[in-house]
Amino acid sequence: MTDLKLCPLCNSKAAVLIEELSCECSYEACQLHEPMSIDEWQSRPIEDALQKKLDEYEFALNNIQLKLDTARNKLANAEKVFMQLPQITITSIEDGAVLYDGNIFKYALEDIRYE
Ligand SMILES: [Zn+2]
Repeated sequence: MTDLKLCPLCNSKAAVLIEELSCECSYEACQLHEPMSIDEWQSRPIEDALQKKLDEYEFALNNIQLKLDTARNKLANAEKVFMQLPQITITSIEDGAVLYDGNIFKYALEDIRYE
């Protein structure tokens, strides 16, 4: 026989009665100190529904955690690639011209594209 759950009202142990066909709360002052079937005692629809919701939330949270870990790994890899890029300095020296790597590059404003 599976372990009987604790009383949902007072958290006392269940007392098994008459050849294990029924049980009741072992605390005499409890409202559930009345014989009932084992199935009835073990039935906890509200707790079961809440546990199901909790399981769903934990599953969703685990999925979010996995996505977060994946995003962190991608960011760490992107940072490694970025750190390996040569350091460059682009300086605007006048309208339509920049200094890059010691060379002057002239450009027309219509050549600039924003993406
Ligand atoms: Zn009780």
